[in-house]
Amino acid sequence: MGGKLSKRKNASAKKTGTKKSITDLSDDELKGKNVLIRCDLNVPLDGKTITDDTRIRSSIPTIEYLKEKGAIVTVCSHLGRPKDGPEDKFSLGPCAARMGEILGQPVSLAPDCIGDEVSKMVADAKEGDVIMLENTRFHKEETENEPEFVKKLAAPFDLFVNDAFGSAHRAHASTAGVCKFLSPSVSGFLLAKELEYLDGAITNGEKPIAAIVGGSKVSSKITVLNALLDKCDKIIIGGGMVFTFLKAKGLGVGTSLVEDEFVQTAKEVLAKAEELGKTVLLPSDIVVASEFSADAETQIVPADAIPDGWMGLDNGPDSTAEQKEFLADCKTVIMNGPLGVFEFEKFNKGTFGIVDILADITKGGAITIIGGGDSVAACEQSGKAGEMSHISTGGGASLELLEGKLQYLPVPTGIWLPCIH
Ligand code: AMP
Repeated sequence: MGGKLSKRKNASAKKTGTKKSITDLSDDELKGKNVLIRCDLNVPLDGKTITDDTRIRSSIPTIEYLKEKGAIVTVCSHLGRPKDGPEDKFSLGPCAARMGEILGQPVSLAPDCIGDEVSKMVADAKEGDVIMLENTRFHKEETENEPEFVKKLAAPFDLFVNDAFGSAHRAHASTAGVCKFLSPSVSGFLLAKELEYLDGAITNGEKPIAAIVGGSKVSSKITVLNALLDKCDKIIIGGGMVFTFLKAKGLGVGTSLVEDEFVQTAKEVLAKAEELGKTVLLPSDIVVASEFSADAETQIVPADAIPDGWMGLDNGPDSTAEQKEFLADCKTVIMNGPLGVFEFEKFNKGTFGIVDILADITKGGAITIIGGGDSVAACEQSGKAGEMSHISTGGGASLELLEGKLQYLPVPTGIWLPCIH
Protein backbone atom coordinates (compact mmCIF):
# COMPACT_ATOMS: atom_id res chain seq x y z
CA MET A 1 0.00 0.00 0.00
CA GLY A 2 2.71 2.45 1.07
CA GLY A 3 4.66 1.62 -2.09
CA LYS A 4 1.78 2.42 -4.39
CA LEU A 5 1.08 5.73 -2.72
CA SER A 6 4.77 6.66 -2.51
CA LYS A 7 5.22 6.19 -6.25
CA ARG A 8 2.27 8.46 -6.90
CA LYS A 9 3.49 10.94 -4.32
CA ASN A 10 6.90 11.14 -5.96
CA ALA A 11 5.22 12.02 -9.22
CA SER A 12 3.34 14.84 -7.51
CA ALA A 13 6.46 16.02 -5.64
CA LYS A 14 8.20 16.39 -8.98
CA LYS A 15 5.30 18.42 -10.24
CA THR A 16 5.30 20.90 -7.36
CA GLY A 17 8.91 20.36 -6.25
CA THR A 18 8.37 22.49 -3.22
CA LYS A 19 6.84 20.68 -0.26
CA LYS A 20 9.99 19.87 1.64
CA SER A 21 10.15 17.18 4.25
CA ILE A 22 12.85 16.16 6.67
CA THR A 23 14.23 13.52 4.31
CA ASP A 24 14.97 16.20 1.70
CA LEU A 25 17.70 17.57 3.99
CA SER A 26 21.27 16.35 3.54
CA ASP A 27 23.32 14.96 6.43
CA ASP A 28 25.39 18.15 6.41
CA GLU A 29 22.26 20.24 6.80
CA LEU A 30 21.49 18.40 10.05
CA LYS A 31 24.79 17.41 11.67
CA GLY A 32 25.60 19.60 14.65
CA LYS A 33 22.68 21.91 13.84
CA ASN A 34 20.27 23.34 16.38
CA VAL A 35 16.88 22.13 15.24
CA LEU A 36 13.61 23.49 16.61
CA ILE A 37 10.83 20.93 16.18
CA ARG A 38 7.17 21.78 16.71
CA CYS A 39 5.35 18.71 18.02
CA ASP A 40 1.77 18.26 19.13
CA LEU A 41 2.20 17.26 22.78
CA ASN A 42 -1.25 18.47 23.76
CA VAL A 43 -1.86 15.26 25.74
CA PRO A 44 -4.79 14.54 28.09
CA LEU A 45 -3.76 14.96 31.72
CA ASP A 46 -5.26 13.94 35.04
CA GLY A 47 -3.40 16.34 37.31
CA LYS A 48 0.22 15.64 36.40
CA THR A 49 -0.49 12.17 35.03
CA ILE A 50 -0.60 11.68 31.27
CA THR A 51 -3.64 9.50 30.57
CA ASP A 52 -2.81 8.86 26.91
CA ASP A 53 0.76 9.27 25.62
CA THR A 54 -0.04 8.54 21.95
CA ARG A 55 0.97 12.02 20.85
CA ILE A 56 4.34 11.75 22.58
CA ARG A 57 5.00 8.30 21.12
CA SER A 58 3.97 9.51 17.65
CA SER A 59 6.52 12.32 17.79
CA ILE A 60 9.45 9.97 18.53
CA PRO A 61 10.37 8.81 14.96
CA THR A 62 11.15 12.35 13.76
CA ILE A 63 13.12 13.11 16.92
CA GLU A 64 15.08 9.83 16.64
CA TYR A 65 15.85 10.60 12.99
CA LEU A 66 17.20 14.05 13.87
CA LYS A 67 19.26 12.59 16.72
CA GLU A 68 20.74 9.92 14.45
CA LYS A 69 21.77 12.63 12.01
CA GLY A 70 23.68 14.38 14.81
CA ALA A 71 21.31 17.31 15.32
CA ILE A 72 20.71 19.02 18.65
CA VAL A 73 16.97 18.69 19.06
CA THR A 74 14.75 21.19 20.85
CA VAL A 75 11.07 20.31 21.04
CA CYS A 76 8.32 22.90 21.45
CA SER A 77 4.55 22.51 21.80
CA HIS A 78 1.47 24.02 23.32
CA LEU A 79 -0.52 22.25 26.02
CA GLY A 80 -4.10 23.18 26.90
CA ARG A 81 -5.33 26.73 26.92
CA PRO A 82 -3.52 28.69 29.64
CA LYS A 83 -5.31 32.00 30.06
CA ASP A 84 -2.90 34.53 31.40
CA GLY A 85 0.75 33.53 31.50
CA PRO A 86 2.34 30.41 33.00
CA GLU A 87 0.09 27.94 34.88
CA ASP A 88 1.68 24.95 36.56
CA LYS A 89 -1.14 22.61 35.51
CA PHE A 90 -0.25 23.28 31.85
CA SER A 91 3.51 22.74 32.27
CA LEU A 92 5.15 20.41 29.74
CA GLY A 93 7.12 18.83 32.63
CA PRO A 94 5.20 15.49 32.49
CA CYS A 95 5.72 15.34 28.70
CA ALA A 96 9.48 15.91 29.04
CA ALA A 97 9.67 13.14 31.65
CA ARG A 98 7.66 10.70 29.50
CA MET A 99 9.61 11.53 26.35
CA GLY A 100 12.83 10.92 28.29
CA GLU A 101 11.56 7.47 29.34
CA ILE A 102 10.69 6.55 25.76
CA LEU A 103 13.94 7.87 24.30
CA GLY A 104 16.02 6.36 27.10
CA GLN A 105 17.84 9.63 27.75
CA PRO A 106 17.08 12.74 29.80
CA VAL A 107 14.96 15.42 28.14
CA SER A 108 15.67 18.67 29.98
CA LEU A 109 12.78 21.06 30.35
CA ALA A 110 13.65 24.72 29.80
CA PRO A 111 11.96 27.14 32.21
CA ASP A 112 10.42 29.06 29.30
CA CYS A 113 10.27 28.88 25.51
CA ILE A 114 12.25 32.09 24.90
CA GLY A 115 15.02 34.00 26.68
CA ASP A 116 18.64 33.78 27.78
CA GLU A 117 18.29 30.55 29.69
CA VAL A 118 16.88 28.76 26.63
CA SER A 119 19.71 30.13 24.49
CA LYS A 120 22.28 28.93 27.04
CA MET A 121 20.74 25.43 27.28
CA VAL A 122 20.76 25.12 23.49
CA ALA A 123 24.31 26.47 23.18
CA ASP A 124 25.59 24.05 25.87
CA ALA A 125 23.85 20.99 24.39
CA LYS A 126 25.73 18.42 22.31
CA GLU A 127 24.79 16.35 19.27
CA GLY A 128 21.95 13.95 20.02
CA ASP A 129 20.73 15.87 23.09
CA VAL A 130 17.02 16.60 23.41
CA ILE A 131 15.66 19.69 25.15
CA MET A 132 11.98 20.58 25.62
CA LEU A 133 10.81 24.17 25.78
CA GLU A 134 8.06 25.11 28.23
CA ASN A 135 4.50 25.58 26.88
CA THR A 136 4.53 28.12 24.04
CA ARG A 137 1.05 29.32 25.09
CA PHE A 138 2.44 30.68 28.35
CA HIS A 139 2.94 33.75 26.15
CA LYS A 140 -0.16 35.25 24.57
CA GLU A 141 2.08 36.31 21.68
CA GLU A 142 2.15 32.63 20.58
CA THR A 143 -1.45 32.64 19.35
CA GLU A 144 -1.12 36.24 18.13
CA ASN A 145 1.90 35.21 16.02
CA GLU A 146 3.53 38.40 17.29
CA PRO A 147 6.72 39.13 15.29
CA GLU A 148 9.03 40.09 18.19
CA PHE A 149 8.07 36.90 20.05
CA VAL A 150 8.58 34.86 16.90
CA LYS A 151 12.08 36.30 16.50
CA LYS A 152 12.95 35.38 20.09
CA LEU A 153 11.54 31.87 19.68
CA ALA A 154 13.56 31.29 16.51
CA ALA A 155 16.77 32.98 17.71
CA PRO A 156 18.75 29.99 19.12
CA PHE A 157 18.06 27.71 16.14
CA ASP A 158 19.40 26.94 12.67
CA LEU A 159 16.38 25.24 11.16
CA PHE A 160 12.76 24.30 11.83
CA VAL A 161 10.81 21.07 11.57
CA ASN A 162 7.03 21.12 11.90
CA ASP A 163 5.51 17.81 12.95
CA ALA A 164 2.32 19.15 14.53
CA PHE A 165 -0.41 18.52 11.96
CA GLY A 166 -3.21 19.15 14.47
CA SER A 167 -1.99 22.74 14.84
CA ALA A 168 -1.04 23.31 11.21
CA HIS A 169 -4.25 25.22 10.45
CA ARG A 170 -3.43 27.80 13.08
CA ALA A 171 -1.14 30.66 12.13
CA HIS A 172 0.64 30.78 15.48
CA ALA A 173 4.22 31.82 16.28
CA SER A 174 5.48 28.25 16.75
CA THR A 175 3.80 26.91 13.59
CA ALA A 176 3.65 29.54 10.86
CA GLY A 177 5.69 32.35 12.45
CA VAL A 178 9.09 30.70 12.89
CA CYS A 179 9.17 29.58 9.25
CA LYS A 180 9.84 33.15 8.26
CA PHE A 181 13.01 33.24 10.32
CA LEU A 182 14.37 29.71 10.01
CA SER A 183 15.44 28.24 6.73
CA PRO A 184 15.11 25.51 5.83
CA SER A 185 11.72 24.85 7.44
CA VAL A 186 10.44 21.39 6.64
CA SER A 187 7.80 18.89 7.70
CA GLY A 188 8.57 15.96 10.00
CA PHE A 189 7.39 12.41 9.34
CA LEU A 190 3.93 12.87 10.90
CA LEU A 191 3.12 16.05 9.02
CA ALA A 192 4.55 14.67 5.77
CA LYS A 193 2.34 11.57 6.08
CA GLU A 194 -0.78 13.68 6.60
CA LEU A 195 0.08 15.72 3.49
CA GLU A 196 0.85 12.60 1.51
CA TYR A 197 -2.56 11.09 2.24
CA LEU A 198 -4.96 13.98 2.73
CA ASP A 199 -3.58 16.05 -0.11
CA GLY A 200 -1.53 13.72 -2.30
CA ALA A 201 -3.92 10.76 -2.37
CA ILE A 202 -6.97 12.85 -3.12
CA THR A 203 -5.27 15.03 -5.69
CA ASN A 204 -3.20 12.37 -7.44
CA GLY A 205 -4.71 9.13 -6.12
CA GLU A 206 -5.61 6.11 -8.19
CA LYS A 207 -9.14 6.36 -9.59
CA PRO A 208 -11.99 5.89 -9.03
CA ILE A 209 -11.70 8.18 -6.00
CA ALA A 210 -14.67 8.33 -3.65
CA ALA A 211 -15.52 10.60 -0.74
CA ILE A 212 -17.90 9.84 2.09
CA VAL A 213 -19.14 13.05 3.64
CA GLY A 214 -21.24 12.79 6.76
CA GLY A 215 -21.77 14.73 9.96
CA SER A 216 -24.55 16.85 11.25
CA LYS A 217 -24.95 19.86 9.00
CA VAL A 218 -24.68 20.97 5.40
CA SER A 219 -23.55 24.39 6.62
CA SER A 220 -20.37 23.05 8.24
CA LYS A 221 -19.57 20.64 5.41
CA ILE A 222 -20.53 22.57 2.29
CA THR A 223 -16.99 23.78 1.56
CA VAL A 224 -15.48 20.32 1.90
CA LEU A 225 -18.36 18.83 -0.07
CA ASN A 226 -17.73 21.20 -2.97
CA ALA A 227 -13.95 20.66 -2.83
CA LEU A 228 -14.36 16.86 -2.82
CA LEU A 229 -16.93 17.01 -5.59
CA ASP A 230 -14.28 18.63 -7.76
CA LYS A 231 -11.58 16.08 -6.88
CA CYS A 232 -13.50 12.81 -6.52
CA ASP A 233 -15.43 10.63 -8.94
CA LYS A 234 -18.13 9.52 -6.53
CA ILE A 235 -19.64 10.89 -3.32
CA ILE A 236 -21.66 9.25 -0.56
CA ILE A 237 -23.63 11.75 1.50
CA GLY A 238 -24.71 10.70 4.97
CA GLY A 239 -25.47 11.88 8.49
CA GLY A 240 -27.76 14.68 9.48
CA MET A 241 -27.13 16.63 6.28
CA VAL A 242 -28.97 13.95 4.29
CA PHE A 243 -32.31 15.43 5.28
CA THR A 244 -31.59 18.83 3.79
CA PHE A 245 -30.76 16.96 0.56
CA LEU A 246 -33.94 14.87 0.76
CA LYS A 247 -35.95 18.05 1.29
CA ALA A 248 -34.17 19.55 -1.73
CA LYS A 249 -35.55 16.59 -3.71
CA GLY A 250 -39.03 17.46 -2.52
CA LEU A 251 -39.36 14.64 0.03
CA GLY A 252 -40.86 14.80 3.53
CA VAL A 253 -38.32 14.46 6.37
CA GLY A 254 -40.50 14.43 9.52
CA THR A 255 -38.71 16.07 12.45
CA SER A 256 -35.20 15.26 11.14
CA LEU A 257 -32.44 17.84 11.29
CA VAL A 258 -32.95 20.22 8.36
CA GLU A 259 -31.29 23.51 7.51
CA ASP A 260 -33.95 25.26 5.47
CA GLU A 261 -31.57 28.01 4.42
CA PHE A 262 -29.34 25.33 2.82
CA VAL A 263 -32.00 23.52 0.80
CA GLN A 264 -31.07 25.64 -2.22
CA THR A 265 -27.36 24.89 -1.62
CA ALA A 266 -28.14 21.18 -1.54
CA LYS A 267 -29.97 21.54 -4.88
CA GLU A 268 -26.90 23.29 -6.32
CA VAL A 269 -24.57 20.52 -5.10
CA LEU A 270 -26.73 17.89 -6.81
CA ALA A 271 -26.89 19.97 -10.00
CA LYS A 272 -23.11 20.53 -9.96
CA ALA A 273 -22.52 16.78 -9.51
CA GLU A 274 -24.72 16.04 -12.50
CA GLU A 275 -22.98 18.67 -14.60
CA LEU A 276 -19.56 17.25 -13.69
CA GLY A 277 -20.74 13.68 -14.32
CA LYS A 278 -20.10 12.66 -10.71
CA THR A 279 -22.31 10.13 -8.95
CA VAL A 280 -23.88 11.05 -5.60
CA LEU A 281 -25.32 8.31 -3.41
CA LEU A 282 -27.93 9.28 -0.83
CA PRO A 283 -29.40 6.68 1.56
CA SER A 284 -32.42 4.75 0.30
CA ASP A 285 -33.58 3.71 3.77
CA ILE A 286 -33.45 5.52 7.09
CA VAL A 287 -33.54 4.50 10.75
CA VAL A 288 -36.05 6.90 12.23
CA ALA A 289 -36.59 7.58 15.94
CA SER A 290 -39.48 8.84 18.00
CA GLU A 291 -37.12 11.32 19.69
CA PHE A 292 -33.41 12.24 19.88
CA SER A 293 -32.42 9.80 22.59
CA ALA A 294 -30.37 6.62 23.09
CA ASP A 295 -33.46 4.56 23.94
CA ALA A 296 -35.93 6.08 21.50
CA GLU A 297 -38.44 3.89 19.71
CA THR A 298 -37.15 3.15 16.19
CA GLN A 299 -38.23 1.86 12.79
CA ILE A 300 -36.58 1.48 9.40
CA VAL A 301 -38.40 3.25 6.57
CA PRO A 302 -37.72 4.07 2.90
CA ALA A 303 -36.01 7.45 2.52
CA ASP A 304 -39.04 8.73 0.58
CA ALA A 305 -41.49 7.71 3.29
CA ILE A 306 -40.27 9.24 6.55
CA PRO A 307 -43.40 9.49 8.72
CA ASP A 308 -44.46 12.82 10.23
CA GLY A 309 -43.22 13.24 13.79
CA TRP A 310 -40.20 10.89 13.33
CA MET A 311 -36.57 11.90 12.93
CA GLY A 312 -33.86 10.19 10.89
CA LEU A 313 -30.81 9.35 12.97
CA ASP A 314 -29.02 6.75 10.80
CA ASN A 315 -29.13 5.12 7.40
CA GLY A 316 -30.68 1.67 7.11
CA PRO A 317 -29.24 -1.72 6.03
CA ASP A 318 -30.26 -1.39 2.35
CA SER A 319 -28.23 1.83 2.17
CA THR A 320 -25.20 0.06 3.66
CA ALA A 321 -25.52 -2.69 1.03
CA GLU A 322 -25.74 -0.06 -1.73
CA GLN A 323 -22.72 1.76 -0.34
CA LYS A 324 -20.76 -1.50 -0.44
CA GLU A 325 -21.52 -1.95 -4.11
CA PHE A 326 -20.87 1.74 -4.83
CA LEU A 327 -17.39 1.58 -3.29
CA ALA A 328 -16.42 -1.87 -4.58
CA ASP A 329 -14.35 -0.62 -7.54
CA CYS A 330 -12.88 2.43 -5.77
CA LYS A 331 -9.11 2.61 -5.39
CA THR A 332 -8.97 5.65 -3.12
CA VAL A 333 -11.61 6.56 -0.52
CA ILE A 334 -11.74 9.35 2.02
CA MET A 335 -14.27 9.51 4.84
CA ASN A 336 -15.10 12.68 6.71
CA GLY A 337 -18.01 12.61 9.13
CA PRO A 338 -20.21 9.85 10.60
CA LEU A 339 -23.30 8.57 8.78
CA GLY A 340 -25.55 8.61 11.82
CA VAL A 341 -25.69 9.43 15.51
CA PHE A 342 -23.07 6.75 16.19
CA GLU A 343 -22.73 7.87 19.82
CA PHE A 344 -26.05 6.02 20.46
CA GLU A 345 -25.87 2.26 19.94
CA LYS A 346 -29.23 2.14 18.17
CA PHE A 347 -27.95 4.51 15.49
CA ASN A 348 -24.35 3.38 14.98
CA LYS A 349 -24.90 0.69 12.35
CA GLY A 350 -24.66 2.98 9.33
CA THR A 351 -21.35 4.43 10.49
CA PHE A 352 -19.89 1.11 11.63
CA GLY A 353 -21.18 -0.49 8.42
CA ILE A 354 -19.22 1.93 6.23
CA VAL A 355 -16.16 1.46 8.44
CA ASP A 356 -16.41 -2.32 7.83
CA ILE A 357 -16.69 -1.72 4.08
CA LEU A 358 -13.61 0.50 4.16
CA ALA A 359 -11.65 -2.11 6.13
CA ASP A 360 -12.59 -4.71 3.49
CA ILE A 361 -11.61 -2.63 0.49
CA THR A 362 -8.32 -1.70 2.20
CA LYS A 363 -7.53 -5.43 2.36
CA GLY A 364 -8.33 -5.53 -1.36
CA GLY A 365 -5.65 -2.88 -2.06
CA ALA A 366 -7.59 0.40 -1.90
CA ILE A 367 -6.17 3.43 -0.08
CA THR A 368 -8.57 4.48 2.68
CA ILE A 369 -8.24 7.72 4.60
CA ILE A 370 -10.19 8.78 7.66
CA GLY A 371 -10.25 12.49 8.50
CA GLY A 372 -12.10 14.38 11.20
CA GLY A 373 -12.48 13.75 14.92
CA ASP A 374 -15.86 11.97 14.84
CA SER A 375 -14.97 9.60 12.02
CA VAL A 376 -11.71 8.69 13.73
CA ALA A 377 -13.58 8.09 17.00
CA ALA A 378 -16.10 5.89 15.16
CA CYS A 379 -13.28 3.82 13.59
CA GLU A 380 -11.65 3.42 16.96
CA GLN A 381 -14.93 2.43 18.64
CA SER A 382 -15.58 -0.18 16.00
CA GLY A 383 -12.07 -1.59 16.50
CA LYS A 384 -11.17 -1.13 12.82
CA ALA A 385 -8.91 1.93 13.04
CA GLY A 386 -5.79 -0.18 12.48
CA GLU A 387 -7.24 -1.56 9.23
CA MET A 388 -7.37 1.78 7.41
CA SER A 389 -4.51 3.12 5.28
CA HIS A 390 -4.40 6.40 7.16
CA ILE A 391 -6.14 7.86 10.18
CA SER A 392 -5.62 11.59 10.35
CA THR A 393 -4.53 13.06 13.68
CA GLY A 394 -5.87 16.55 13.04
CA GLY A 395 -9.63 17.12 13.11
CA GLY A 396 -9.82 20.80 12.14
CA ALA A 397 -6.58 20.69 10.19
CA SER A 398 -7.67 17.71 8.07
CA LEU A 399 -10.94 19.43 7.17
CA GLU A 400 -9.16 22.65 6.24
CA LEU A 401 -6.61 20.76 4.17
CA LEU A 402 -9.38 18.94 2.28
CA GLU A 403 -11.26 22.21 1.85
CA GLY A 404 -8.15 23.71 0.25
CA LYS A 405 -7.91 26.37 2.95
CA LEU A 406 -4.41 25.47 4.10
CA GLN A 407 -1.89 27.28 1.97
CA TYR A 408 1.72 26.39 1.52
CA LEU A 409 4.37 28.97 2.26
CA PRO A 410 5.07 31.55 1.16
CA VAL A 411 1.71 33.23 1.24
CA PRO A 412 1.09 36.76 2.38
CA THR A 413 -2.05 36.00 4.38
CA GLY A 414 -4.10 33.11 5.64
CA ILE A 415 -3.12 29.88 7.25
CA TRP A 416 0.04 28.10 6.34
CA LEU A 417 1.66 24.78 6.31
CA PRO A 418 5.34 25.40 6.68
CA CYS A 419 6.48 23.27 3.82
CA ILE A 420 7.23 25.44 0.85
CA HIS A 421 10.35 27.45 0.29
P1 AMP B 1 -19.91 17.06 12.42
O1 AMP B 1 -19.30 17.69 13.64
O2 AMP B 1 -20.61 18.02 11.53
O3 AMP B 1 -18.93 16.16 11.68
O4 AMP B 1 -21.06 16.11 12.95
C1 AMP B 1 -20.82 14.99 13.75
C2 AMP B 1 -22.07 14.71 14.49
O5 AMP B 1 -23.13 14.49 13.58
C3 AMP B 1 -22.00 13.47 15.35
O6 AMP B 1 -21.97 13.85 16.70
C4 AMP B 1 -23.29 12.73 15.01
O7 AMP B 1 -24.02 12.30 16.15
C5 AMP B 1 -24.10 13.78 14.28
N1 AMP B 1 -25.09 13.18 13.36
C6 AMP B 1 -24.88 12.23 12.46
N2 AMP B 1 -26.04 11.89 11.87
C7 AMP B 1 -27.01 12.67 12.42
C8 AMP B 1 -28.42 12.79 12.22
N3 AMP B 1 -29.05 12.03 11.36
N4 AMP B 1 -29.08 13.69 12.96
C9 AMP B 1 -28.43 14.45 13.86
N5 AMP B 1 -27.10 14.39 14.08
C10 AMP B 1 -26.40 13.51 13.36
